[in-house]
Amino acid sequence: MRPALGSRAGSPAAVARVIVAAPRGFCAGVTRAVDIVEAALERWGPPVYVRKEIVHNRRVVGELAAKGAIFVDEVDQAPADRPLIFSAHGIAPTVRVDAASRQLRTIDATCPLVTKVHSEAKRFARQGYELVYIGHEGHDEAIGTMGEAPEAMHLVQTVEDVAKLDIAADKKVAYLTQTTLGVDETAGIIQALKERYPALASPPKEDICYAATNRQLAVKRLAPNCDLLLVVGSQNSSNAHRLVEVASEAGTAAHLIDGPADIRPEWLKGASTVGVTGSASTAEAAVQDVVAALRPGKVEEFQAVEENVFFNLPPELR
Ligand code: SF4
Repeated sequence: MRPALGSRAGSPAAVARVIVAAPRGFCAGVTRAVDIVEAALERWGPPVYVRKEIVHNRRVVGELAAKGAIFVDEVDQAPADRPLIFSAHGIAPTVRVDAASRQLRTIDATCPLVTKVHSEAKRFARQGYELVYIGHEGHDEAIGTMGEAPEAMHLVQTVEDVAKLDIAADKKVAYLTQTTLGVDETAGIIQALKERYPALASPPKEDICYAATNRQLAVKRLAPNCDLLLVVGSQNSSNAHRLVEVASEAGTAAHLIDGPADIRPEWLKGASTVGVTGSASTAEAAVQDVVAALRPGKVEEFQAVEENVFFNLPPELR
């Protein structure tokens, strides 16, 4: 195993300058989901059960588990006498039906912006559209949204997938997207869809959420001024991977790390300015741990855009 930066006691890998991107870290949907688990623990006491990871971040999940949250994969793994929370990524209707059939007390931490895409899926399906869903196969959000209208859904992940779509010529076609996709890459797929289906219907408002868009914009503008960009986030975080891609497309070496222990000394060779950001499910403390581990001569913040979004807790936890 290669040595990790954090394990080299007495040999600080000082970099001259760290520039921290803003906006970064927790979005409004993640803040709400984490607050829901904490409020449920306070209200009903531990344990509370959570179906899937509440957000895709190892540290956040670990901290909530330490407080008494138990993460399960499916509804039938939760006991009938404890609350069950649905994660921020949303669920297919079949999951809701399973929980109702067991008469579980459920709390829905689905991000309101994901719920909006679910509503669009139902509306388009009701109106007889075939739905092209631009997203990542197997991602919790994609599974949940596609589950709203499984008979009408067609998943595409790349421009090449558009050419392979098999939709009857007499069908109306609409598209939806996962909320955390890369803005530029998705624009290319949408363009290919429009060329293939000139009457393509669009969602009323962009599905890629404000938080994914803003974090990508900050990285896009910051990366050209850095020798290296570190994205703090977990491997199963879709929006974290998109941030790495955005930096790479700008020509800057970029890596996704969970924390200081993942930093490789060789990445820092010749890197005097290091950019740092956190994905939408990364707590600020995790970003600051990475900044501290870099032992920078100076730390600056680069703010691409201001954010001021907040979502209320569900009524039963307010
Ligand atoms: S990234 Fe966007 S859609 Fe996902 S939880 Fe955050 S605000 Fe909601």
